[in-house]
Amino acid sequence: MRTIYLDNNATTQLAPEVIEAMMPYLHDFFGNPSSMHSFGGQVAAKVRDAREQCAALIGCSPDEIIFTSCGTESDNAAIRSALTVQPERRHIVTSRVEHPAVRALCADLATRGYRVTELPVDASGHLDMDHYRESLTPDTAVVSLMWANNETGVIFPVERAAELARERGILFHTDAVQTVGKIPIDLRTNAIDMLSISGHKLHAPKGIGILYVRKGTRFSPFLIGGHQEKGRRGGTENTPGIIALGKACELASRHMDDENTRVKQLRDRLESELLRLIPNSRVNGDTVSRLPNTSNISFEFVEGESILLMLNEYGICASSGSACTSGSLQPSHVLRAMGVPFTMAHGSIRFSLSIYNTGEEIDFVIEKLPPIIETLRRLSPYWTVGDQVCTAQ
Ligand code: PLP
Repeated sequence: MRTIYLDNNATTQLAPEVIEAMMPYLHDFFGNPSSMHSFGGQVAAKVRDAREQCAALIGCSPDEIIFTSCGTESDNAAIRSALTVQPERRHIVTSRVEHPAVRALCADLATRGYRVTELPVDASGHLDMDHYRESLTPDTAVVSLMWANNETGVIFPVERAAELARERGILFHTDAVQTVGKIPIDLRTNAIDMLSISGHKLHAPKGIGILYVRKGTRFSPFLIGGHQEKGRRGGTENTPGIIALGKACELASRHMDDENTRVKQLRDRLESELLRLIPNSRVNGDTVSRLPNTSNISFEFVEGESILLMLNEYGICASSGSACTSGSLQPSHVLRAMGVPFTMAHGSIRFSLSIYNTGEEIDFVIEKLPPIIETLRRLSPYWTVGDQVCTAQ
């Protein structure tokens, strides 16, 4: 059975060009880039090239790139550094819809005496900027707001938020794990101090990430060890991963137009056809300020997990907005923060596309999903007759 992979916000397939670029550095060129000999030196040169490729994608200087192991490490390193370099400041501003890489860290910091403001979002997944402005205080050490949401694709105005933080002398970090490679980013034109990237979200392998730190930003390393990454992250470099990520960044620049035209059109067709064919369905989150590849749709009165299992029978991979936690199905914290009604939040599915998806694949999903929802609704204590929703007694 063929796989139709529409779960690219979870992880992406390796680009063939990326595999080709990294393979020699797994096989033949295994030298340590810190070695004095030329066998290691040639790897160091390749790492330098990769750093330039990564910097070019986000419009920064290669010196501002620190290679890490993943997006989670980058987020942790940024926030912890901001707190370490300003021990007198004890306040963090973030949002209710952040990824656990930020949210769980902030929850942990709250138990250690830091004050955390989690900004709410409205029904479309957006921040209230007045509320944001009011949350910034002389005690605020760092703001950490995601650029785009992994579940809904909603894009926060982080460039404006970063300006407001800078005006008040507050460090600004953004989790851009879902953003980089999907929409253009130019760090020369904004006030963002730190930014997180994860390789496996943009067709590079798992186990490699980036923390961008703007030149002049005080930084305290998360991993203390050797002199690697100019002393900002100890540990022998993941050279095949770095070389792979460099290639993936170069490809992402090249594919940016395709992502924002063809992929977006595929996503829009999938979304509009599913809404047309399936009653009691709706899109979660703002549909304008949104990543081009993501659609989060709720199908009322059905369980997301059941939909996923039935899609899986056809080889279709997507994600649901609820997670089975300790036996009870909890709707996602993102949809809850947006106030999505319970019956809608439970039946939410996230489709996330990539440049490797085709129109034929989207047609297949449009054909298979409506009868799946119909079947599940017939089994549900709630069901529809025509357009009317009926409730079991
Ligand atoms: N931040 C966001 C918005 C994400 O979507 C993810 C992964 O899903 C992460 C951080 C964590 O990235 P990693 O899996 O590389 O640790």
